[in-house]
Amino acid sequence: MNDPLYTKKQDILIVDDTADNLRVLSSILVREGYNVRKALNWQMALTACKTLAPDIILLDIMMPEVDGYQVCERLKSLEITADIPIIFISALDDVFDKVKAFQVGGSDYITKPFEFEEVLVRIQNQLAFQTAQKEIQQLNSTLEERIKERTQELENTLQRLRQEIGERRNLQNQLIDIALHDSLTGLPNRLLFVQQLKKALSRAKQEKSYRFAVLFLDCDRFKMVNDSLGHLIGDELLLAISARLQSVLNNQDTLARFGGDEFAILLEELTDIETAITVAEKILEKLSLAFNLSRYEIFMNASIGIIWGNHEYEQPEHLLRDVDTAMYRAKDNGRARYHIFNPLMHQEAIKLLELENDLRRAIDREEFLLYYQPIISLTTGKISGFEALVRWQHPSRGLLSPNDFIPLAEETGLIVAINTWVLETACQHLNHWQNNFAGKWQINISINLSTRLFSQPDLISKIDKIIETTQVNPNYLELEITETAIMEYSQSAKDIIKNLRQREIRLIMDDFGTGYSSLTYLHSLPVSGLKIDQSFVKIMQSNPDNMGLVPAIVSIAHSMGISAIAEGVETKKQLSQLRSFNCDFAQGYLFSEAVSHDKVLSIIVNAPQW
Ligand code: C2E
Ligand code: MG
Ligand code: MG
Repeated sequence: MNDPLYTKKQDILIVDDTADNLRVLSSILVREGYNVRKALNWQMALTACKTLAPDIILLDIMMPEVDGYQVCERLKSLEITADIPIIFISALDDVFDKVKAFQVGGSDYITKPFEFEEVLVRIQNQLAFQTAQKEIQQLNSTLEERIKERTQELENTLQRLRQEIGERRNLQNQLIDIALHDSLTGLPNRLLFVQQLKKALSRAKQEKSYRFAVLFLDCDRFKMVNDSLGHLIGDELLLAISARLQSVLNNQDTLARFGGDEFAILLEELTDIETAITVAEKILEKLSLAFNLSRYEIFMNASIGIIWGNHEYEQPEHLLRDVDTAMYRAKDNGRARYHIFNPLMHQEAIKLLELENDLRRAIDREEFLLYYQPIISLTTGKISGFEALVRWQHPSRGLLSPNDFIPLAEETGLIVAINTWVLETACQHLNHWQNNFAGKWQINISINLSTRLFSQPDLISKIDKIIETTQVNPNYLELEITETAIMEYSQSAKDIIKNLRQREIRLIMDDFGTGYSSLTYLHSLPVSGLKIDQSFVKIMQSNPDNMGLVPAIVSIAHSMGISAIAEGVETKKQLSQLRSFNCDFAQGYLFSEAVSHDKVLSIIVNAPQW
């Protein structure tokens, strides 16, 4: 821009009605390198400006018709000329009003006669000022343009960010939705249910009149359907169940699936527990109808725990724990029913938990004892064997009977360790007695084998090891198992029994008649005896006209070529009845209770007879 080669000649318009003045001034300015145009009056000046706007105008004041002030005013009012700097030229004798000159828009003034240097400086000043102003304008508009662009960019970015945030929020909501709902049924899951329950609890704390109840429901036999008919059918059934549950609920109630076959229901705005009971009854009724699935008709019911919402609960989890206890009670009471939680149940649950902890420690501390109950041969009237029965010497509760801890041990799996200990210890005792009787030992020892142990793949190797370390003669070992063990593990049962046979260990079916074993299947198993459950022996006494199942079981045993052993014989009458049916063996308080192991030898030496 500053390079003179590229600089366009600056254009000056002189407006003066005196041609001489024009000439003089113009020749000087042309010499100085300016392009100069001339106008004698307003009209010519306007035309010149319209043709090409000059860079600067030198304007005479005294002109006929339209004087300099007016010309200036008019030029300033036109858009094309408004910004052109105007320098007034006044002769000495002119009446020159400097204030007016500036008021009408003049930029400067020169008085005649001129000092050329002054004229040039003033022109250069104005031009420089003009150029600077243009540059500023240019810069301003570039700046404005830039600002506009940047603003637009920022707006676009903002828009994009808003969109992204929206998308993220949607995604997050979807994720939250997934995290809070069950994928199969679309119902709220445990997490969401606990949140709802928390709200209900805090509302109950604030509003005395607000009451709620929770129902906890576990389907009876669902696992069987799932395992036998497959997961697809299981899923179809779960969907059908949740639809039926939903159909008995109001809009304000929350139905949730806790996974598996467990559902929970939150009933709100209740006035009494009766409403919750009615809902539970309706559910049981609905579920009792057949489910017509795509390929199967299935019958299914549920056990329901009910708990009356109570503001004393601090945690929703505690409420769930208690309603779960109530549900289990409904199951224990025979399924397909409901049970309402009462605080005593919690105490029991705690006791059970303590017992479980104690039981775990009992294994390490070896707090178990083995007692032995004689088994009498009804043909000779003499002791033919002993049944080993475990006891627990509890540090604070005294000697506990197996009924107090075996069910819990079975449930927790601790039975495996306990029963292994029983096997080992009974074999150690047996070895001791066999040695003391130096070859004349003819007594059998029966050991109860839990279903859990019976299903262990390493059972046989465990027994082998015990026999090897204790050096017992396995001919005198009998293992008692229940029908459940054989039915539940029918695949492996045959193998295990075969292996036991090879080792000449006999197998006795305990509590016979209380399970569900099929006689056909039983027939194919080489068991050596059936132990008649004591409940049948009891009935025999109380109902002499109907000997019940005892004679039948004895004849089943005999038809299979094995012996029958009666349990729980307490009276002489029972003994004579059993003898009359040709029952082979018997045990019971009539003969002896179970005794500690150190008494066994003296009993044998005494050789009692009945
Ligand atoms: P079970 O194997 O049927 O044992 C017979 C139970 O009847 C024993 O109870 C015994 O004391 C009891 N009994 C014996 N004679 C009479 C009688 O005349 N009248 C009455 N009312 N009861 C009598 P116990 O010792 O309390 O054992 C209960 C159950 O615990 C056993 O039933 C058995 O199933 C289980 N059990 C005992 N010891 C063990 C063990 O070492 N391992 C496993 N897995 N279970 C065991
Ligand atoms: Mg037994
Ligand atoms: Mg029994």
